[in-house]
Amino acid sequence: MTEKIATTEVSSRRLLKRLRDVMLQDTAIQDKLKSIVSVVASEMGTPVCSFYLLQPGDILELYATYGLNPKSIHETKLRTGEGLIGEVAIQKKALSFEDAQNHPSFAYKPETDEDDFKSLLGAPVLLGEHLIGVIAVQKEEQHNYTEEEIELLETVSMLLGQMLASVKFENKQESILHTPKDNHDKLEGERLVAGMGVGKVFVYSRLERVSNMVAGQESQELEKLKVGLEEMDKELSNLLSSPNMSAESLDVFETYKMFTKDKGWIAKITDYIHSGLTAEAAVQKVGDDMYDRMQMISDPYLKERVHDFQDLANRLQRHLIGKQTITSDVQLDDNTILVAKSMGPAELLDFDRSKIKAVLLEEGSPTMHVVIVAKSLNIPIVGNLHDLLGKVQNGDTVAVDAENGQVYINPADNILADFNKRIEALEKIRRKYGRIKNLPCETLDGVQISLNLNAGLSMDVFALGEGFAEGVGLYRTELPFMSSGQLPDTQQQIEMYKRVLEKADGKPVIFRTLDIGSDKVLPYAEYKKEENPAMGWRSIRVTLDRRSLLRQQLRAFIRAVNGGDLYVMFPMITDIDEFIQAKETLNIELEREAQKGGVLPASIHTGTMLEVPALLFQMAEFLPLVDFVSIGTNDLSQFLFAKDRSDTTVWEKYDVLSAPMLRALKYVADMCRLYKVPVSVCGEMAGHPLDAMVLIALGYRKLSMNPASLGPVKSMILSMDTKQVSEYVASVLGAKTRSLRERLRLYALDHNIAI
Ligand code: PEP
Ligand code: MG
Repeated sequence: MTEKIATTEVSSRRLLKRLRDVMLQDTAIQDKLKSIVSVVASEMGTPVCSFYLLQPGDILELYATYGLNPKSIHETKLRTGEGLIGEVAIQKKALSFEDAQNHPSFAYKPETDEDDFKSLLGAPVLLGEHLIGVIAVQKEEQHNYTEEEIELLETVSMLLGQMLASVKFENKQESILHTPKDNHDKLEGERLVAGMGVGKVFVYSRLERVSNMVAGQESQELEKLKVGLEEMDKELSNLLSSPNMSAESLDVFETYKMFTKDKGWIAKITDYIHSGLTAEAAVQKVGDDMYDRMQMISDPYLKERVHDFQDLANRLQRHLIGKQTITSDVQLDDNTILVAKSMGPAELLDFDRSKIKAVLLEEGSPTMHVVIVAKSLNIPIVGNLHDLLGKVQNGDTVAVDAENGQVYINPADNILADFNKRIEALEKIRRKYGRIKNLPCETLDGVQISLNLNAGLSMDVFALGEGFAEGVGLYRTELPFMSSGQLPDTQQQIEMYKRVLEKADGKPVIFRTLDIGSDKVLPYAEYKKEENPAMGWRSIRVTLDRRSLLRQQLRAFIRAVNGGDLYVMFPMITDIDEFIQAKETLNIELEREAQKGGVLPASIHTGTMLEVPALLFQMAEFLPLVDFVSIGTNDLSQFLFAKDRSDTTVWEKYDVLSAPMLRALKYVADMCRLYKVPVSVCGEMAGHPLDAMVLIALGYRKLSMNPASLGPVKSMILSMDTKQVSEYVASVLGAKTRSLRERLRLYALDHNIAI
């Protein structure tokens, strides 16, 4: 034993000495790494030693190898978490695998010729707590790595970390590291619009708070407001007539124009002027009120409308105090990265789009309208960047990787070079989405999948024109009810729904009746305080109790379809009787319409959302009554796991890709097939490629999602084999692990499914 330790010590000392010699040589870093892997291989008596370097986007790139095919250097790439090397990276600790090739996480990389190597030992290379790479050794035979071997590789990885760090600090040109110098170098946010861009920062800020609060003469302020509104209207009309506007941007502006004429909004501003405020202060106050109210909403789609209102209020304020738009006196770099706290869509359009390479926002979520517009303009956006404005300044060079929600501030040259390569590769993918648009939406084994759109304003329906979606699978009707000062009357509702149907141009639109209450509060309605509003008086419970509200909306649907096909869906149905009552109400309205000599719909389809677990246990009774079912996985998982959807801490604790949720979903798919009732999924799950893959494996053939998800989900569909994935998903449903996400993700990557 003592002899063995002594031998190990000797070989360890010799290895470290040889490594130090290599490090002191005056050679390029790539050559040093080449020598290091060969020294380690020879001293540890192992046929393979490889070093993988962490690249932007959490990619581990094979950077040097002794023993694997040298052609795979810089070619072989793994994501952190992918394969055994990725596992070491994620866990940031040395891991040994006696039978590597049969390990469930093994990711086969044919270009490396690693078929002959059965065991693997890997150690993370760290700089402080930041991962910078992984070093690994492999042996031909199955091998149980000893503690000494593990310690030795850990020591090598430590030395390697020090060497790479010193190169980084002493010689920036030669540094190959992509880890942060300090915490300000790299920011992590959320991908809102995919893509990449490099450019100079321009920080956009809205007007300062109004200083002139108290009005001299009320009549003057009212006149000022009138003129301000007219000027703003003119400005928006000018923008509308610009020949470069895309159809969807036109829609955004149309909505803005609608707001400028919104009587509720103007009435509230006028009220504040009557109470003694200047016109600009009154606009600010109404904006603040709206902001406070919207902050209470947890539905991300509705919550994000606040940015539109702020944009509009800011625009009107500018007119009131006689300032031009911010962009009129700004010289933008040809490659500009626009940085802001938050932004409305029109603010983005104020800039010269050809110069904006990406947008970075401190706030933000995927359902913001600026996101819709940016998507149509192909401008990448990263949102939710904490303290962004404190970390960048005008003129900084920034590389934006919106694919992975990452931002590099003043990056080294090699990172920039890497970005340019990846931007080129992305262009290729974009061209691919363009190409797949017109391909049939079917899996490799020929299973047809219907993709549909989730929308909440007529402007969202533009995405139908892009050719990916067959119809609107969920039209959320609550937004206009929340944004205006009073309940829209029947005629206003008819106009709104007509606009949606016109944009859908003959494709089916499933209108969901009002899903208000809980976090979606109507400003003009009376609510009693509830301890648990998500489980309180909301949605169908409200509209059945306030039947006239439901009747009015159903009447508006019937008249808007004007002899076409009517699809109505009721949310939050908990027991069959609620559905029966809701359907009876629809029948009453249809009869009324007939009596009045109105045009009845050519066909009527009445469905329910499945969001409350109680419905799972009444399937046999309610399926014969409905024409279709759509699963709201956002609410269903909220109630199934008892996890508040507005509380991110608990929300992330329980994964929808886990046995309980997937078993529930499988049961619903099976029951709907048995009863021949069409079923779809319209919650967030449907829009995530990996989750969508699992839904298809469970038997779902219709998915409805936000516009931005359509391309990625279709791309995934075209690359999956339903039968194979179904077998795999069935085999993991019994797993005892809390989440199946990682297994499923690795399965998809191993099977080249584009998730
Ligand atoms: C859901 O609950 O999954 C759903 C689609 O409805 P919403 O997100 O509007 O509650
Ligand atoms: Mg819901």
